Amino acid sequence: MISNRFFEERQKAYSWAPAGKNALIIFVFAFIVFFCFSSCSKSDHRKRPLAAQGLLDLRSWDFEKDGIVELNGDWQFYPNQLLRSADFRENQSFALIKVPGSWDNFELNGRKIGVTGYATYRLQIQLVDRLPYQLGLRLLLIDSAYELEINGKLIYKNGKVGRDAADSMLSKSHGKVLLPLNSNSYEIVLRVSDYHYHEDGGIVYPILIGSMESLDQEEINEAYIEWFLIGILSIMGIYHLGLYFIRRNDTSPLWFGIFSLIMALRAMLTGSGFLYSISPVDIQWLMHKIEYLTFYFSVSFFVMYGYRLFTEEFHQAAIRLGIIISILFSLVVVFTPVIVYSGSLFWFQIFTFIIGVYTIACVAFAVRRKREGSVLFLAAWILFFAAVLNDILNSQLIIDTGVYFHFGFIAFIFLQSYLLSRKFSNAFTTVEKQSLELSRLASVKDEFLANLSHELRTPLTAIYAYSEMFENNNNPADLKEYGREIYSNSEKLISYMDDLMLLTRMESDIDLSKSGTDIREIISENIYKLSKLAAEKNISIQFHAGVVNEIQANKKYMSKAIHAVIKNAVVYNKENGTVIVSAQNDISMLKITVSDTGIGMAARHLPLIFDRFYRVDSSDTYEVSGVGVGLFLAKKIIEMHGGSISVKSEMDRGSEFTVRLPVE
Ligand code: ADP
Repeated sequence: MISNRFFEERQKAYSWAPAGKNALIIFVFAFIVFFCFSSCSKSDHRKRPLAAQGLLDLRSWDFEKDGIVELNGDWQFYPNQLLRSADFRENQSFALIKVPGSWDNFELNGRKIGVTGYATYRLQIQLVDRLPYQLGLRLLLIDSAYELEINGKLIYKNGKVGRDAADSMLSKSHGKVLLPLNSNSYEIVLRVSDYHYHEDGGIVYPILIGSMESLDQEEINEAYIEWFLIGILSIMGIYHLGLYFIRRNDTSPLWFGIFSLIMALRAMLTGSGFLYSISPVDIQWLMHKIEYLTFYFSVSFFVMYGYRLFTEEFHQAAIRLGIIISILFSLVVVFTPVIVYSGSLFWFQIFTFIIGVYTIACVAFAVRRKREGSVLFLAAWILFFAAVLNDILNSQLIIDTGVYFHFGFIAFIFLQSYLLSRKFSNAFTTVEKQSLELSRLASVKDEFLANLSHELRTPLTAIYAYSEMFENNNNPADLKEYGREIYSNSEKLISYMDDLMLLTRMESDIDLSKSGTDIREIISENIYKLSKLAAEKNISIQFHAGVVNEIQANKKYMSKAIHAVIKNAVVYNKENGTVIVSAQNDISMLKITVSDTGIGMAARHLPLIFDRFYRVDSSDTYEVSGVGVGLFLAKKIIEMHGGSISVKSEMDRGSEFTVRLPVE
């Protein structure tokens, strides 16, 4: 008989998936917590000191214990002037500007000075006498030309500072400078000119002061995280492209792979600007274009990725529009000079914000509709947004928590790729399950055909033999006996054929014309029909008929169902066994039970015996002929009448089938 155990074992082999999922989720969260704590350590630091009136008092700051300080706060500001240390006099009047921040909105004579121009910044720092270690300044990648003068000495130059575009030259580099030793005050003068970019003008990134050792260490730590991110993004990118090339009908890994690779390239251009530092000055303009393009392209690829995951929730027209807008922005970058295209950044950021909000709305819809992966996708977005929001508030000095962009982005990438790999493995598992089911069905079919040919052959052989004997025998008593055998074997054949025809018709709807039926009559008729079969094994069939209401039923089909259940109680019974049938009203239902003292069944078979062609695989059942359709048809017929059938059974003790039918 069909060995279902084999398939059950095989099915179990695929249940590794949930364990693997949990392990991955735990890994991701361990990772997140690790990053969280390593970044949070910053908030243990003392409150950051701020410059006021162009003066920063660091006399109570211990650089070794309290760490690096950003030279943030109000600096002296001299717009449209390029001043040297010697130009400043005591009590000279000055304006103030927030550093870091752009000078675009600074008003001079009632007018904003705008993005391009030149200016001098000045800050005085007070320290305790004789620090036992070397101090230094760290300047991050700034898109401006600048000259840094400390205590009257020109210490560092980035490009050439000038009074107009022709006179000034830009170079993109970041640097660290040593501060003169044994000084208890520093005068920092920064001459800045900005003609090249249409982005924020002035000192938009913080300048850091700290012991040279801690500045070096910080740079190394940042490089670790940066290269870790670049590594992750590159691997994710290649991995997902690989996935796509293996299975091309799903394009979400393709878009996510390209997005990851673009972000890896972008990470090499931002932060410490690795690609800027290795490229010659005369192709830095190209690097800058690529830096912009990575941003503009990444949005399109990400949107395509989201769209492929939640096609029903995103509007195709909105996606098309989004991509067209991104392409237009990219064309501006490709075909216009930096002074023009850098002006597009602000508008593209607004566009990205709109796209971000739209994506969250669509994914929230997907979550409501319980789409696969939507909760993870939303969680990734929220983590990422929270990190970006934190960084904006942190840089605006509204909160003092540290920078979380990398943490947010890595968590985002991890969750997204986990989502994709789960999707991929689910697809794989489904295919595996389907192929298992197919092979199960194939062997069910073979088994059924073998059973059927056997079941048909036995009565046919009997009919053939008796017909032959009919010709050669003239004894009327024998002829009568042969006739009876031919009749009963033909009846068996017809009953098989009926079952098979009903089986095929079950798939399409059959006509169930119902009429008022007394179930007791149907039961009694079937007990009578089966009495001969029962007598062969000396089995007694008892019928306990209680108070029974009439039901609406199709007599022919209902009789078939009842027959199948009682017949099984007889054929799967033991010699001298008993079958008890009872029928009685039970609240608003009619309850029929058929119990026997037969071979019973193991618990694992019980959910399967109502399946088509299912037969229990045991030496006892081999002895009983059958093709495994009786209970399948009985269940279908009972359900078509709005009823149900259930079974309880114990090996070697017997079985009890309960049928419930609605009473009018
Ligand atoms: P079959 O033609 O094999 O009898 P059924 O659909 O009627 O097909 O029954 C499915 C299987 O359920 C049987 O092969 C048998 O193993 C098991 N079964 C059904 N009724 C009983 C019963 N009363 N006692 C023990 N086994 C039963």
